[in-house]
Amino acid sequence: MYFSDKFPHGSPHPTPSLQGDRKGSFSDLGWTNTFAGLGEAFYSRVQPTPFDGAAWLIHINRGMAQTLGLDAEAMDESALLANLSGQAVPKGADPLAMLYAGHQFGTYVPQLGDGRAIMLGEIRDPANRPWEIQLKGSGLTPYSRQGDGRAVLRSTLREYLCSEAMHGLGIPTTRALAMVGSDEEVYREHIEPGAMLARLAPSHVRFGSFEVFFYRNQYDHIRSLADYVLEHHYPELKETANPYQSLLVEVIQRTARLIAKWQAVGFAHGVMNSDNMSILGLTIDYGPFGFLESYQPGYICNHSDYSGRYAFDQQPNIGLFNLSCLAQALLPLFDDDPNQGAEWAKSALAEYQGIFVKTYASLMRAKLGLQEALDEDQSLLEDLLSLMQQGGTDYTILFRKLSEFTCGGLRDANPPYVIRDLFLDREDFDAWAERYALRLQKENSVDDERCERMNNVNPKYILRNYLAEVAIRKAEDEKDYSEIDSLFKLLQKPFDEQPENEHYAAHPPDWASGIEVSCSS
Ligand code: AMP
Ligand code: MG
Repeated sequence: MYFSDKFPHGSPHPTPSLQGDRKGSFSDLGWTNTFAGLGEAFYSRVQPTPFDGAAWLIHINRGMAQTLGLDAEAMDESALLANLSGQAVPKGADPLAMLYAGHQFGTYVPQLGDGRAIMLGEIRDPANRPWEIQLKGSGLTPYSRQGDGRAVLRSTLREYLCSEAMHGLGIPTTRALAMVGSDEEVYREHIEPGAMLARLAPSHVRFGSFEVFFYRNQYDHIRSLADYVLEHHYPELKETANPYQSLLVEVIQRTARLIAKWQAVGFAHGVMNSDNMSILGLTIDYGPFGFLESYQPGYICNHSDYSGRYAFDQQPNIGLFNLSCLAQALLPLFDDDPNQGAEWAKSALAEYQGIFVKTYASLMRAKLGLQEALDEDQSLLEDLLSLMQQGGTDYTILFRKLSEFTCGGLRDANPPYVIRDLFLDREDFDAWAERYALRLQKENSVDDERCERMNNVNPKYILRNYLAEVAIRKAEDEKDYSEIDSLFKLLQKPFDEQPENEHYAAHPPDWASGIEVSCSS
C-alpha cells in the first residue's frame, strides 16, 4: 500500500480505517516527553486546536512512517488523522509549546516561542533514535503574539516537499511525516486554506532557546537546557573536560558544514534568524526559501528581506553571527571568570570560517569532478561562477551537464555543445573549458568515472519555486494532490536519471520569475 495513492486526484475525505493488530496507530509508539521534564520555565503545556470543519490527510511520508516503526499494512488512518489534525492526542503524549527568543533580522526579540507549533511528545524508533513530533499550524499558544496559530496550505506544502528534498540531497534537516488539509479559512494577504504539518526532529531546540535565558539572567536555566541537550543528543561530549565548551565547538562545526552544503547545492534559507537555527545543525523552519536558478550570488529569496540580509551569499556570515549569539548565551557556562570565558568563545568562533571554507571547497571540487586538491582549483571555480553570473546560467543545470564534459573537450552531444550554450559569452567559456580539460588531465581523470561521480553530487532535480507553485495551485484550486505526490517521489531521488520526469529538470518557465515568497505563511 502506498498511502499517498489512497487520496488520488483530490479526494478530500479519508478512506475507512484499516484495523489490524500490528503497530498501526500513533498511540502504539510508546510516547514520552523528556523535554517536559525540564520544567515549566521552558515551555507551556497546551493542547492542539482542531480545525473548524473537515480535515483530511493530504499526504503521508510512508518511508518516514516506517522509520518510526509504523506498520503500513496495519495503519489505522482515521486514528492517525485524528492525531495529526489535533483532534486526539496520542496516548502518553504530553503536548507543549517550547519557549525561545532570538535575533530577528539582527535585532533581539525577547520572547518568541512556538507560536503555531505544538510538540506532541517524543517517541523512539525501532533503532532507538529519539524523535520529537510537532504539529505545525495547530492553533494558538501562549507565544502566538498577534498570530493566529495557523499555517496555510501553501507554506505547509513547501515545507513538506523541501524537507524531503533536502533529505534526499543528503543535507541535515527536520523531517515531515504528513500533511493534513482543511476547509478552515486562514487570513493572510488573501484568504487561504489552513493545513497542518507533522514535523519531526530528534530535537527542535534552537539557538534562541538558550538566548531567552541569557537575556533574562536565568543562568541556571541555561545550564539545565545545556545539560538536557548534552544528555539526550550529544552524550559523547559529557566525558570531555568542559562539556559546555565542547557543545559549542560541535555546534560550530555542524553549522559550518550545514551552510557549506547549502551553498554548494544553491539553497537559500531566506530567514536565518537565530531562532531558526537548530542546536543539532539541522535545516529548520522552511519559509521563504529558494534554490538558485540563474546564478546570482546576491539572490534574495525572501520578498520581505528588503536589505538583503539573508541573501544567498550572506548565509555563511549570518551563520557566524548566529553562532556568536549562541556563544554569548552559553558564556555563563564556560568559565567562572567571564573574561576568560569570552576569550575562549572568541577563539572557538574563529574556527568557523576555516571549517566552512574547507567543507565548501571540498564539496565544490567534487561538483567539478576533481579528486585531488590543487591551489589552482579556487580560481578555476571562481572563474566558472563568474561566467555563470554573467550569463545568468542555471546553477543546477550547468553542474549536472558538466558531467558530460570530456577531457578532449566538449562531447559531441546532441544537441551539440550542450554545455557551451548555457553561457552568454561562449568564447570566454571555451577558454575556461580548455583550462578545465588541462586540470582534469593533471589528475588523469577518466571521463566515464568522473561523469558517474559528478552525477552523484550534482542533483538533476531540485524543488524549484515554480514546481512547488504548480503543486500549490492544484492543491488550492482543485484539491488535487497528485502533483505533491509526483514531486515528493521525484525529489527523494534527486541524483537519479528519471527519464519519465525529464521535464522537471528543465529551465523554469518565464512566469516563474513573478513568484514572490515572503514570511507571511
Ligand atoms: P518564523 O519567521 O516562521 O520562524 O516565525 C517567527 C515567530 O513567529 C515564531 O515564534 C513563530 O512561532 C511565530 N509565528 C509565525 N507565524 C505565526 C502564526 N501564524 N501564528 C502564531 N505565531 C506565528
Ligand atoms: Mg521560526
